[in-house]
Amino acid sequence: MISNFIKTIMEEDLKSGKHDKIITRFPPEPNAYLHIGHARAIITNFELAKCFDGDTILRFDDTNPAKEEKRFMDAIINDIKWLGYTPKRITFGSDYFDEDYNLAVKLIKEGKAYVDDLTKDEMKEYRGTLTEAGKPSPYRDRSVEENLKLFEEMKEGKYAPGEKTLRLKIDMSSSNLNMRDPAIYRIIDKEHAHTGDKWKVYPLYDYAHPLQDAFEGITHSLCSLEYVEHRPLYDWVIDNTNPPSIPRQIEFGRLNIEGTILSKRYLKELVDKGLVTDYDDPRMPTLVGLKRRGFTPESIKEFVLSTGLSRINSEIPFNSIDHFLMDDLKLKVNRRMAVLNPIKVVITNYPEERIEYFDFPNNLENEELGSRKISFSNTLYIEREDFVPEKPNNKFKRLSLGAEVRLMGAYFIKAESCDYDENGNVTTIYATYDPETLSGSGFNARKPQGTISYVDAKTCKKAKFNLFESLLKEDDNAELPLEERINPESLKVVEGFVEEAFDATPEVKCQIMRNGYYSNDYTSKDGDIVVNRTVSLKQSFK
Ligand code: ATP
Ligand code: MG
Repeated sequence: MISNFIKTIMEEDLKSGKHDKIITRFPPEPNAYLHIGHARAIITNFELAKCFDGDTILRFDDTNPAKEEKRFMDAIINDIKWLGYTPKRITFGSDYFDEDYNLAVKLIKEGKAYVDDLTKDEMKEYRGTLTEAGKPSPYRDRSVEENLKLFEEMKEGKYAPGEKTLRLKIDMSSSNLNMRDPAIYRIIDKEHAHTGDKWKVYPLYDYAHPLQDAFEGITHSLCSLEYVEHRPLYDWVIDNTNPPSIPRQIEFGRLNIEGTILSKRYLKELVDKGLVTDYDDPRMPTLVGLKRRGFTPESIKEFVLSTGLSRINSEIPFNSIDHFLMDDLKLKVNRRMAVLNPIKVVITNYPEERIEYFDFPNNLENEELGSRKISFSNTLYIEREDFVPEKPNNKFKRLSLGAEVRLMGAYFIKAESCDYDENGNVTTIYATYDPETLSGSGFNARKPQGTISYVDAKTCKKAKFNLFESLLKEDDNAELPLEERINPESLKVVEGFVEEAFDATPEVKCQIMRNGYYSNDYTSKDGDIVVNRTVSLKQSFK
């Protein structure tokens, strides 16, 4: 259950009668795919509203037609649905363009806004700095009539982008730079996805956002910490427009993840430069990337909730999500045997033509998942790291020459000898099996050195395993160009084998025993199995 400082505020606001229903919103700009930082904002808004039987609105902040795209909107809607949330309504910042405009006209009439001809650079120069007051624009004292006429002409498309802006007349010497006559309308000459070519002027975030909140009856407008400095302006807009309801902005800390950067600009650069395959590359911190890698919505939700919520930005190691995925899938998915880095084992005393099938539970911890057949023949594969010719020490629980191990679900085998290639790598192990030792037979005359997994070379299927590491190098240096910051080990593709019962269907998840949790890639199919390792069970098996 969610519990944080914002919940306390909401409780008080309900108790005091300030509000009788909590209404929150998630307001993404549809100019990129969502990342796991956005998940914090989504989860916070939806979960808090849910606590009080309130509503959450998904509002697309589509006030800049130069950057926004339909495909991003669709992706955002899907991501939110995937996380398990249903917005009460889906709205658009552009739904309120008429009201925004009318209120701007009203502000002009009250002498609280003016049309400025300064360029963007000049405006910046006039704005001053933290230690130096700003200078008033030479256009600051235009008459109401002139401002009304110019704003109207801006709207009609009489001026080019950048030629004029509408600014609030607040205080050029305010200690808060955002209050030094912020621009609230700019000219953009682009077709808008919803309003077409109706508008040539578009409201800026600091003006449009509080109004949208107020029009929708948002009670608590939650946003990340960088908006603290904008709150006085948020309140100014509300105080000076007399809207139907009074929203309150509350800021929370951003979620950052070590080894990656959660910013749209960076994600776009990764895609544009071809450093990842696309926004859904499994190494990406986007929700579509995490999904493709195999993370479940439940694991993401539990992870995000576990990071808490405070007024401090948090930086969390990415692998702290791993155990949430394991907790979620442990009893839910089948466990399968696979060999990623195979060595061939020939069982010299097993008849060459014979194949035996044994029943083996799909999940040793959850009977309800039933069982499947695994096979055994005279040619098998085991994991290369499961064989060391000379037993290195007494703790060694895998196969070595002269010793016995159990092959999971099958027999004991004893390694008798092995072949090497010219580099000294083992190529084939020759072993014998003991027919008395079949798993489940009750055999207990001897104990094997350990239990290892295997696949039967005669029935197994080829598979490609994508193994992931952090996208950025461990000693990441933000000064370097992005292409030099990428960890060359971030994707390793390994070709190996999976047991016959392995289901190749896209998105199906399983635990590969003793290895990790895997999810079939979207491209996976029978005959061309591609699996993404979501999390590894062990960092190193050594
Ligand atoms: P940009 O990269 O352009 O700053 P943004 O990540 O702020 O974009 P928006 O579409 O404006 O993108 O974000 C929607 C909401 O998600 C905002 O309320 C923002 O505060 C919140 N948000 C974005 N990133 C994080 C993060 N890392 N942690 C928590 N909340 C976030
Ligand atoms: Mg933003």
